[in-house]
Amino acid sequence: MSKDQAMLGITEFAPVHHKPNRKDTKIRVKKAPVPTDFMENGACKEGPVEIFFSDKPHEISTAKTKCGICEVTEECLTFAIQNNEEGIWGGTTERERRIIKRRLYYKKTGA
Ligand code: SF4
Repeated sequence: MSKDQAMLGITEFAPVHHKPNRKDTKIRVKKAPVPTDFMENGACKEGPVEIFFSDKPHEISTAKTKCGICEVTEECLTFAIQNNEEGIWGGTTERERRIIKRRLYYKKTGA
C-alpha cells in the first residue's frame, strides 16, 4: 500500500489492471448428490469391470448383455447421463448417451 493510499484511507489494494478471470467470477453451485444405491444391485457388481471400459467389440457386447439382465438399468443410465460417465452404463456406450442427451435437449427446448 502506498503512502497516498494510506492517506486516503484505502486499506485494501487491488491493482487497476486486474480483470477477474473465469475462476474469479464463476458461480460454483454444488450439485445435489446423486444416489448411487443402485450400484449395490447391479449385475456388474461381481465384475469383471474392465469390459465396461473396453474398446474391444466383443467385450462391449458382453458388458451390454450384462446390462440387459440388470435390474437397475434405468437408474444406472440416468446416473451416467447426469455425471458424464465414461464406458458402458445402463446398456449404453458414451456415444449412445450423447445421442440420448441431444434428443432430450431437443425435446426439452422444442428445437
Ligand atoms: S446397467 Fe449395466 S453398468 Fe449399470 S449397474 Fe447394471 S450391469 Fe452395471
